[in-house]
Amino acid sequence: MLTVEAEAKVPKADVSAQIELPSMPLLSFSEAGLIGQEQFETLNHKVKKGQTMSGIFTDLGLSQALLLKIIKHNEDGKRLTKVMPGTVLNFKIDAQKQLKSLQFDPSDKETLSIVVNEGEVSTELVAHELQTQLVTAKGSITHSLFGAGKQAGLTDKMVMQLAHIFSWDIDFVLEIRQGDSFSLIYEKVYKNGEYITDGKILAASFTNQGKAYEAVYFESEEGDGAYYAPNGRSMKKAFLRAPLNFSYISSNFNPRRKHPITKRIKAHRGIDYRAPKGTPVFAAGNGKVIQSSYNKFNGNYVFVQHPNGIVTKYLHFSKRAVKKGARVKQGQTIGYVGSTGMSTASHLHYEFVYNGVHRNPRTVSLPKAEPLAKNKMPAFERMASPLLAELSGLNQRLVVAN
Ligand SMILES: [Zn+2]
Repeated sequence: MLTVEAEAKVPKADVSAQIELPSMPLLSFSEAGLIGQEQFETLNHKVKKGQTMSGIFTDLGLSQALLLKIIKHNEDGKRLTKVMPGTVLNFKIDAQKQLKSLQFDPSDKETLSIVVNEGEVSTELVAHELQTQLVTAKGSITHSLFGAGKQAGLTDKMVMQLAHIFSWDIDFVLEIRQGDSFSLIYEKVYKNGEYITDGKILAASFTNQGKAYEAVYFESEEGDGAYYAPNGRSMKKAFLRAPLNFSYISSNFNPRRKHPITKRIKAHRGIDYRAPKGTPVFAAGNGKVIQSSYNKFNGNYVFVQHPNGIVTKYLHFSKRAVKKGARVKQGQTIGYVGSTGMSTASHLHYEFVYNGVHRNPRTVSLPKAEPLAKNKMPAFERMASPLLAELSGLNQRLVVAN
């Protein structure tokens, strides 16, 4: 009763002061006390190639039994056995030469703290706060897409990511020309102000032979992200423009030379892609393998039946990767470029047959791509319009902080 009365007389401000007092000083006391009494030594050790954790512990005069105990403690502890050369290990060692804590980054994305308190091990894995910055880049093609990408400050990986977005609209092997241009907005990821990696492309445009394509990344509430044209239709379509990866080929790309093959499309009813032997060839669309065989004309060849009366044919493989009857998905490797059969040089002969008639896949009209659901369009447009505006006003090189 007395206590209650006493407390009741204390003004509100003092009550709050009493509440804070026990916690605040206690924390700082315990830190000060530990530092004052125990005198830690802090040691940073950069792991060298060929060095083992056991060797490092021995060098520092630390117990092998303790190392074993940490490794066996849990999955975090086990990561001590997988430390890469170059990793900096931060040891705190007390006056009795006992390990008190060990801290290091097992990856770019996290820090692991191992604390030893009176022989007991505890671990804590903390994910780093990463900062994402949006960056813009633009380029114009003079000799090759990779060259233009490099000039625009893009990694080859980012160039491939960019090309992938438009790979249902543009044949990056045969149709890229001098003067084609691109612009994009993409993420750069930083940790403590230090660049780690590139993230996603949020929006991009590509102008190929005068025709402009635009795409915006959009993540629906279900969490699946994909690229959409400004009208909300998916960039993914039933057929890839080129059934092979341009990155194997573009080193030979010469934009000044008209590709001789395109002129011959009618004559031999297909498109020839010159490519090094072994270049993977993809199914242009989902379908079923109706032929996978060899003859002296086609060499190793694969035919795929798709919906809507479309058949695609792939000839002269060095090696086939699918059997007759197999279901294949768009982009799945079905064989490798070669020069088998009636062929004088390593290339893929590709045919696109629509209701029994050979067609140019570039000009044949195909079913339209899937649109976003109507109820998703407002959110998509909110996301897309500032990005598209940024793309079209791409005079300023650098950008928007996130
Ligand atoms: Zn051919």
